[in-house]
Order: sequence, then structure tokens, then C-alpha cells
Amino acid sequence: MAKEVNKRRTFAIISHPDAGKTTITEQLLLFGGVVRKAGTVKAKKSGSFAKSDWMEIEKKRGISVTSSVMQFNYQGKRINILDTPGHEDFSEDTYRTLMAVDSAVMVIDSAKGIEPQTKKLFQVCRMRGIPIFTFMNKLDRDGRSPLDLINELEEVLKIDAYAMNWPIGMGKGLKGIYDLYNQRIELYRKEDHEETFLKLDQTGKLAEDHPLKEESIYRQVLEEIELLKLAGNQLDPQRVAAGEMTPVFFGSALTNFGVKTFLDAYLQFAPAPGSHQLVDGQSISAVNPEFSGFIFKIQANMNPNHRDRIAFVRICSGKFERGMDVYLKRTGKKIRLANSTQFMADTRETVEKAVAGDIIGLYDTGNFQIGDTIYTGKQALQFEKLPQFTPELFVKVSAKNVMKQKSFHKGIKQLVQEGAVQLYQSYSTGDYILGAVGQLQFEVFQFRMKNEYHSDVIMTSMGHKIARWINPEQLDEKMSSSRNLLVKDRQGLPLFLFENEFSERWFKDKYPHVALTAKL
Ligand code: GDP
Repeated sequence: MAKEVNKRRTFAIISHPDAGKTTITEQLLLFGGVVRKAGTVKAKKSGSFAKSDWMEIEKKRGISVTSSVMQFNYQGKRINILDTPGHEDFSEDTYRTLMAVDSAVMVIDSAKGIEPQTKKLFQVCRMRGIPIFTFMNKLDRDGRSPLDLINELEEVLKIDAYAMNWPIGMGKGLKGIYDLYNQRIELYRKEDHEETFLKLDQTGKLAEDHPLKEESIYRQVLEEIELLKLAGNQLDPQRVAAGEMTPVFFGSALTNFGVKTFLDAYLQFAPAPGSHQLVDGQSISAVNPEFSGFIFKIQANMNPNHRDRIAFVRICSGKFERGMDVYLKRTGKKIRLANSTQFMADTRETVEKAVAGDIIGLYDTGNFQIGDTIYTGKQALQFEKLPQFTPELFVKVSAKNVMKQKSFHKGIKQLVQEGAVQLYQSYSTGDYILGAVGQLQFEVFQFRMKNEYHSDVIMTSMGHKIARWINPEQLDEKMSSSRNLLVKDRQGLPLFLFENEFSERWFKDKYPHVALTAKL
């Protein structure tokens, strides 16, 4: 089993929308032999989540969502790529996904440098201390100077950077990359041409005669490389493993240039599954023979023809076999895992066996919640809590057609379990209230309610609110006033939705003994 676990490389690609995540994913799948033609994944793109895109995806559902986990074999390794929605309104989903990976690839548009979403996602990876690899994309276009990009990584993200390779020109003048790591020059070529590598001699210059030697850009790059060797960081695999240093690769995903070079080097540095933290401060090693895992994502109606609901499990230790019994920590119940699936780029297949590092999908009839731990063996386990966000935007929601309450309730229940939005109920009126981090979440909710549950919903915006939980024992319903709304969450726990900071402060002044908390 340890041998199998050590073959696993499980990672996510993080980037700001449009940096090229989908394009590079597709190239990786090409190398894995999973898709045969570029453009296959593109059509199924589930990342960008403009509302119109999302509806498009909806039509192609079942395919689109298989791309949320992609698995393939490459050079003796088994690779799991987890997709993350790019739009910031879905950052909660993305953050949870990042809890399920062992490393991350950060794709940056070399003309734009670090953008807001890259920075946020980077910080989550940083917090987890996982290795981060950087791909500076779109070298076939004129972008910023490589030195400038490297400096920005160090200054803005506060991470040491080590250039694994260096562009020789860019845009129309792109000649290739100077590959420090492999001691060679890789010539730029049209997408459908073979790679050409030129050897470097001991001093780092071209070993043989080549027209490139006469180009001024070649001489300039040699100077830059000298400078890097003198003033830059040394490659330190331990610091890479600790997430303190990021190896940087340059390339162009669109023309499939430098992507294979990146992947090959990446696989040498990217970690196999390690250990996972438990709530009690202990940890579980990936090669522990007992099975354990946690649910980081739930998705309903992945295939509209089957009306199914899938719970995505990251296996943290041991091995999974279809039909095995596990314990669900939250309820203490024993559950048989009979219906499981794994994901390739455009198919789903039943999975019989999987090991730590793999992601499996369990067909779920309502047993699981996001954050659940499942395990075998005598010792009850609970993995660390997944990050949660306090919603900031709220809407009142009701069914347009009062005769159709049943589908309304079913839809809300399932979508809330998915973690798509949060649900609250007003103490005084019983109204349903939804909370989200971003507006787009509501729009997708409304769209899915109609499409998947045939329920037209009316949403009335309540605007921004500050959500603060209160100890139920300290609650007195009289504390509710016109400036705050008393609601209960899905677990029945009370919280106030304050209009603004002023009304929260006013409340605190009035009830100094009452403790308010931002998150549960
Ligand atoms: P995502 O939003 O990060 O998934 O980005 P996409 O992969 O969809 O890429 C966004 C746009 O950038 C698309 O029009 C791509 O064709 C384009 N693109 C991606 N990689 C490259 C590249 O290496 N060079 C150029 N010129 N365009 C690229």
C-alpha cells in the first residue's frame, strides 16, 4: 500500500480568472492521455462562473463537473488534479478544496503579475504550509520582465522564489527558455512540432554552434542568469516542501510550450500524501493501514438524468475498497460505502479500490455533510475543521408558487447541504433567509432551484449584514430590535444579523455581559 500511496500526487491549480488555469489543465490531461485533443476541457470549463457561463455549463452538466476532479497516470505517478472555481464569490468552495490537496500550482499571467484572487488563494496554501509551484504563463505574449515578476512574488507574497528556467525573449521575440534545472535550452516551437533541446556546457553556454548564439537576447539572458546565480536564491528542496520557497517555471500554456518541462520537474518535487491533522492535535499518516478521509465537497444533481448527490472524499490514510464499512464520526453510525465513483476527464467510473491521496465520490442519500470524517478501526477520528466563512450578504427567499412548497423545501435543503449558500430562519416571522459571501452565489442558487427542482423562488435583498452568534443561554428575544434581526441557523443556534458596525456596538454597550462570536 505504501508503494501505491507514494505514487499519488494530489494538487490544485490556483489562479486569478483568465490567467490560463483551464488551458494548462487541458495540456496536463493531454500528457496523461486522458483527452486527445486540445479544446475538450475548454468547452466544459467550470471555473469562471460568470452567470452566463454557468448556464452554459448547466447544459453540459455531468461533463462539466467531472472536471472538478481529474485523475490520470503519468510516468509511473497517479495524478489527481482538483479544480477550483475561479470566481471570488465561490472562494469558500475553493478554500475547502485546498484543504484536500498536498501541493498547489499557481498560474500567473506574465503580463499581469499577481492579481487579487491569486493572492488570496496563495495565502490559504501558505497557511497550510503546502508546497507551491509557480507557472508564469503567456510567454508568447509581451509581458513584464522575468526579474520584475520574480521580485513581485517575493515582495507581494513574501515567498522566496527560485527560477527553474528563464525566458529567452517574449511575445513575438520568444526564442525559448533557458532551463537552469535541466541544464539545457528548450527552443520555442509551434504547438504541433517536436521539442528541441540544446545542450549547455559547463559554463552554462550553448555547447554547440547554433544561430541563437548570435542573437543579442541570448547574450542578455546569459547575463541575467549570471546575476541570478550570484544574487538569487539557491534551490532548497526542504524549503520548497515547507512552502517557504516556490520554484518558478516560465511557459505558454496555449502553445503548449514549457508545460511538459514544468510537469516533469514538478513531479520530482511535489510531495506524496503525508499526514493530516486531527482536532486533538494528533495526526494520521497516509500510510496508516486504517482507512480515513474527510468530505470537502458535496454536489447535487451532477447528472440531471440521475438526480444524484455526490460527496467528495479525500482519502487521508489507508485504502478504500468498494463495499467496505466505515464509521461516520459526527453520528457514530456505521455506513457501507457501496456506491463510489472516480473521475476521469470525461467519464466517471465505479471505483473498486483507492488509496490515501485519492479523491473518491460517494453517491449520497443524505448521510454526509461537508467536513465529515469517516474512518475504520477502533480509534474514532475527527479531522481538523474546514474553513468557514461568515456570510455578509443576505436575501429573504420564498417560493413564488405557494402550492409548490415541497420542491422548494427539497431544493433548499439539498443546496444548503452542498454548502452553496447558508440558510437561516427568522425568529419572529419564520421567514427563510439565505446568506452568502458573494452575490453570484444567490444567482446560481436561484437558477439551480428552477432548473433542478422546478421551483421558482423570489429573493428580496436585505443587503449587507454582520452575523454574530450568541450563546443560547444568554438569549432574550427582547434583545431583538429594529437594528438587528434575530435568526436561527441550520442547527437551530441563534444569531443576530446587525445592520452595521454601529448597531453591533450599540448592542454591545447595552448588553455588555453578552458574548457575540463571528463564526461557528
Ligand atoms: P482560466 O480562467 O484561468 O481558466 O483561463 P483560461 O485557460 O480559460 O485562459 C484565459 C484566456 O487566456 C483564454 O482566452 C486562453 O486562450 C488564453 N490563454 C491561456 N494561456 C495562454 C497562453 O499561454 N498564451 C496566450 N496568448 N493566451 C493564453
